[in-house]
Amino acid sequence: MKYLLIGQGGQLGWELRRACITLGEIIAVDYPEVDLADFSGVRDLIRTVKPDILLNPAAYTAVDNAEEEPELVRRVNGIAPGVLAEEMKKLGGALIHYSTDYVFDGKKNTLYNEQDTPLPINVYGRTKLEGEQLVMDAGATYVTFRTSWVYGMRRGGFINKVIQWAQQQKIIHIVDDQYGSPTWARMLAQATAHVLMQGGSNVLDYLQQYRGLYHLAGNGEASRYEWVKTILEHYPGKEDLEVMQILPAKSQDFPSKANRPAYSALDCSKFETTFGIQLPTWQACINLLDN
Ligand code: NDP
Repeated sequence: MKYLLIGQGGQLGWELRRACITLGEIIAVDYPEVDLADFSGVRDLIRTVKPDILLNPAAYTAVDNAEEEPELVRRVNGIAPGVLAEEMKKLGGALIHYSTDYVFDGKKNTLYNEQDTPLPINVYGRTKLEGEQLVMDAGATYVTFRTSWVYGMRRGGFINKVIQWAQQQKIIHIVDDQYGSPTWARMLAQATAHVLMQGGSNVLDYLQQYRGLYHLAGNGEASRYEWVKTILEHYPGKEDLEVMQILPAKSQDFPSKANRPAYSALDCSKFETTFGIQLPTWQACINLLDN
């Protein structure tokens, strides 16, 4: 089985490359070697590599910056996933794509499921929703995993930011009016690999049988405040941190370019029931924080 992984350097891409290593040959690429905004370059790459399965964790993920360059973001997050799906249809292969909890407006107060109507409130969410729809419409074998609040220890992601603040400040303020489902990138990659493994040598038929959209995230919900408190409680080097107090704050205290949904935690029961995989709680993943 030949895999093409686009976005190998991202939080999820880095973990996917490792989690899928036993599944077959993996050709892993990233920007600028491949630019999702360059559709003919992307088509050429896929036609040259001819993968059986295309893994696409790549996206324009800078939610605030996205407000400043909506056309580029639309090309990368909206139109390109449709191009990937079209090419995989021509090859008779499958696309594994990732989307976001930010397709929702955040007005619901209980876990969002796949039947809930998306109504994005920022450029990032709108373009990711367009990507979901174009993937679905292309008629290829595909699985789209919608996830939430992805973190890993490697890059300049949220955990690294939190640790930096905690190294420099005695008091940090974190919003307690945004709720999501914190999702460890490694767990997300392993859950993806598990699905692919279950298909065995008939993985393309298996994915065709279960094609569709699934919510896949750490189980449960957390405010950003609870999330940060839990991260710092479990951070292996916590004795060396400056921070003494973590205080709750409100989103309006931190004006940002993009609106964010107040609530976007995900109900993952469709994923769990379909694939027979019990997802861990978000807290269980934070317990495993290491380097
Ligand atoms: P990252 O931002 O860590 O990684 C994204 C990857 O995409 C990077 O390697 C980046 O390269 C690459 N990329 C960006 N622009 C392009 C482009 N034009 N062409 C090719 N590659 C490009 O994202 P995550 O791993 O956190 O996210 C994985 C998936 O999960 C994405 O689909 C995202 O939308 C979704 N998601 C993420 C959430 C989060 O909290 N991070 C929450 C919900 C969903 P470079 O670094 O060089 O720019």
